[in-house]
Amino acid sequence: MTGPTIPADQNRRISGTMFSFQVFGIPIRLHVTFLLVAAVLLLSGLGEERSSVVYVLYVAGLFASLLLHEMGHVLVTRNFGVRTLEIVMFPIGGVARLDRRLQPAEEIAVATAGPLVNMFLAGACWVLATVNNHIVSLAGISNSTNDNLGAQLFFANLGMAAFNLLPAFPMDGGRILRSILSRFRHADDATRIATWVGRMTAISMALYGLFSGHYLLVIASFFLYLGAAQEAAAALGRVLTSGIPVRAAMVTEFHTLSHNHTVREAIQMSLSSSQQDFPVMHGGEISGLLSRGSLMRALAAEGPDAYVVGVMDRDFISLTVDHDLSTVLPVMARASHCALVLQDHKLVGLLTADNLSHFLALRRFGLDPEEHLPA
Ligand SMILES: [Zn+2]
Repeated sequence: MTGPTIPADQNRRISGTMFSFQVFGIPIRLHVTFLLVAAVLLLSGLGEERSSVVYVLYVAGLFASLLLHEMGHVLVTRNFGVRTLEIVMFPIGGVARLDRRLQPAEEIAVATAGPLVNMFLAGACWVLATVNNHIVSLAGISNSTNDNLGAQLFFANLGMAAFNLLPAFPMDGGRILRSILSRFRHADDATRIATWVGRMTAISMALYGLFSGHYLLVIASFFLYLGAAQEAAAALGRVLTSGIPVRAAMVTEFHTLSHNHTVREAIQMSLSSSQQDFPVMHGGEISGLLSRGSLMRALAAEGPDAYVVGVMDRDFISLTVDHDLSTVLPVMARASHCALVLQDHKLVGLLTADNLSHFLALRRFGLDPEEHLPA
């Protein structure tokens, strides 16, 4: 069976990013939260006993260390024949989108590579500082001066390696923990345990940060908790849906539009039902999808008398009734409209975010979808 047909621009892209550039051909995007935290850090570091040139060098060194950490992951990933499609930088590190899931043994190697790069960089900074007769000591960097740039980057890289090796998913250490656990447990069980450790670590870190006045730790723990909670929800979703076909969760009663319907008629239809997105049909074939977003844009730009055929989306997600729900879940999580479900090339249902979450809630209460499937 082939996978779902997804428009290229919706293929699980992570939203909320600004600025993108390429390093070694890998697109890197900066998430808004990354930029916010970076701006706070940059401003709080000003006004110390160092020149602005050294400060810029320090910040550039930090950013380069982050990127090289990610490139460590990319290189080892490539070694296993897996392509990194893009990396999105979050405050606690990069999230890589790969063209396939890693096997546990592969994940251990990939996850270790990033912190190893930081340890190597720390070593290089230590050598540079020592050659220049600067003493590398923790006490020495409590006051950032022009002379201890090497020492500052040494400790920054050690810190990055240590933080990433925390056995708390989604940190690299948590990925290593999950891979080791998955030798004894089912993959989703392993993820659940690793994300639980991640959340507990985040809570402990936040409490420690609050009481010791290290507010940077509190911010980091917030993002760590968020990452762990998201991954735990995804793992639970997989457990609840794996082996279940799309037809068990799809909407089978729905309205369609045809080419000669106008925007006005589409609006009337959307007001008189709870349906958000409408398939547009032509001679029994699907020719497009009119989502609520497109409908509103069309109303604003072209007015109520425009024909839906001119304003509908021609890129949409299409699934077959037999697609495994667990493989469809990540696609639906990023989709801005419903998916069309086909059987023998005929439209038989819609998979909507609302119905899917309703279905997941029922599954948590022990509903067996096989009993309720239409024959
Ligand atoms: Zn990493």
